[in-house]
Amino acid sequence: MFVSRISPCSLYVRGKQICPLLFGNYKSQNLLADGSRTIYRGNVDQFKAKYGGRFMVSMLPGDGIGPEMMGHVKEIFRLGGVPVDFEEVHLDSTVQHIDNVEEAITSIKRNGVAIKGNIETRANNPLFKSRNVILRLELDLFVNVLHCKSQPGIKTRHNGIDIVLIRQNTEGEYSCLEHESVSGVVESLKIITREKSEEIARFAFDYAVKNNRKKVTAVHKANIMKLADGLFLNTCSDIAKEYPQIEFDNMIIDNCSMQLVSNPHQFDVLLLPNLYGNILNNIACGLVGGPGITSGQNLGHEFAVFETGSRNTGKSIAGKNIANPVAMLNASADLLEHLGLNKHAKIIGDAIYQTVNVDKIHTPDLGGTASTLDVVQNVLQIVQDKTRL
Ligand code: ATP
Repeated sequence: MFVSRISPCSLYVRGKQICPLLFGNYKSQNLLADGSRTIYRGNVDQFKAKYGGRFMVSMLPGDGIGPEMMGHVKEIFRLGGVPVDFEEVHLDSTVQHIDNVEEAITSIKRNGVAIKGNIETRANNPLFKSRNVILRLELDLFVNVLHCKSQPGIKTRHNGIDIVLIRQNTEGEYSCLEHESVSGVVESLKIITREKSEEIARFAFDYAVKNNRKKVTAVHKANIMKLADGLFLNTCSDIAKEYPQIEFDNMIIDNCSMQLVSNPHQFDVLLLPNLYGNILNNIACGLVGGPGITSGQNLGHEFAVFETGSRNTGKSIAGKNIANPVAMLNASADLLEHLGLNKHAKIIGDAIYQTVNVDKIHTPDLGGTASTLDVVQNVLQIVQDKTRL
């Protein structure tokens, strides 16, 4: 057991602070629009690990269905001639010590970019810190971007949904600041800072401008958490004034949850503090087809980590060849776009779209009977045909 001390504000390993959770210095933003998706690039020079025209990308398979999904990504990249090699770091919940978290962080810092499966967080062990959260904090992946769009081939309650959720990814309730002050009394601190609120608000408005979005809605509970959510809301309102071309409004989280399932078409870009973002991300993914469809991007000024939108592990369906691979394959297309490999990103993205919406090869979560491999084979076939052309 190598975790020597959990302090209220940091995780220490052998006396060394490895997780400065808050209050970093941040460089200015740099947003680039590429085709249909907009990928935030901190600093393209960060992709240091490029050898002979090939990119090196960290791959963290994670738990549950993660390793299977990564196998499919590797196969599609290999047969599609994608110039990416993977540095695999096996970071999963079975390992108690922190060494391979450090290894993963070092790998991502070296390569600049990663694709990851979700790592289960064992809720029954307070010493087992979420590896997912440590990575986001340590790499300052301050924003999670989730684009939830209805797919014509997937039957859902609502059609025509097109919502982008911009979630603050590093503070709020995820600051890992909890302690038992006296036996039976636990305090859990939610940290909201003007600096991080400004950063995420500016990101959301820049995203809206660059992607021709019309409205940003800040989500909060400022009627109850008057100081914390009040600061978030006031900061978002201040930043909104710098973007008069974008409509700005706000909604309380409980009402927003209801509105999202009853009338989702009213939303364009949602600007969210961390925990509300986590919950609404899952609702939004559910609205457009469930955990197996949508990808999510964790972005910072220097590093980027791509994963599935609703960050599921799918432990009970692992190894059964029934998991829907589309969300992770979409994450791999996002990754390629981030690297500037737009042609490969488009070929793979189009192949996924055709498989889901035209050929309608659907796994059981979508009401189909296809296996994971059926979906992957179909995508592969289309990718290989297009690559040959
Ligand atoms: P599980 O129930 O699989 O052990 P869990 O309780 O940790 O996992 P999550 O991993 O959060 O739950 O997943 C929520 C639900 O979504 C589960 O029923 C899971 O099986 C399902 N699920 C997750 N990912 C996928 C996927 N890619 N394809 C199909 N179903 C999925």
